Amino acid sequence: MDHIKAAIRTIPDYPKPGIMFRDITTLLGDARAFRAAIDAMIAPHAGSKIDKVAGIEARGFILGGAIAHQLSIGFVPIRKKGKLPFATIGQSYELEYGTDEVEMHTDAVKPGERVLLVDDLIATGGTAEAAVKLLRRAGAHVEGASFVVDLPELRGVERLRALDVPVATLVAFD
Ligand code: 5GP
Repeated sequence: MDHIKAAIRTIPDYPKPGIMFRDITTLLGDARAFRAAIDAMIAPHAGSKIDKVAGIEARGFILGGAIAHQLSIGFVPIRKKGKLPFATIGQSYELEYGTDEVEMHTDAVKPGERVLLVDDLIATGGTAEAAVKLLRRAGAHVEGASFVVDLPELRGVERLRALDVPVATLVAFD
């Protein structure tokens, strides 16, 4: 995991002062680190039968697309409100200031399908929790979730595990 962590760039004060942004574009551009990350996101869930990968906009699309291809299964985009063209269901969630909403197509998963949820980073877990609720409302079983980066101080992993979702993360930053 050292190689994966070293491939992630930190941008201080982005998108606003005081935030240390963990930038995975450098990992995506490093062939060995990218493949290692994809393999490591899949491995913890090897014992589960998975029908689809759901990726959270936007970096979850890149990672989730690669995982879906590797597993030869379909991909489901979970997007910010107003971006999807067909009929959607939405789930709102609390931000530090205000609320946001994620959406998914109504036919993106069939009842009973087993889904692996993917994003680049888990912080408070608010986005991932909304995605889990959305998938469950559509009748899917969330078999697990994988993230490249965990910010453990913000306790998102615990929040997701409290929903009975097995969570895997590859590297942690303070
Ligand atoms: P949460 O909902 O867990 O608080 O925030 C996670 C969401 O915010 C993810 O979709 C993630 O992509 C984005 N995010 C928050 N902070 C960072 C960061 O430092 N780096 C990256 N790459 N994404 C972040």
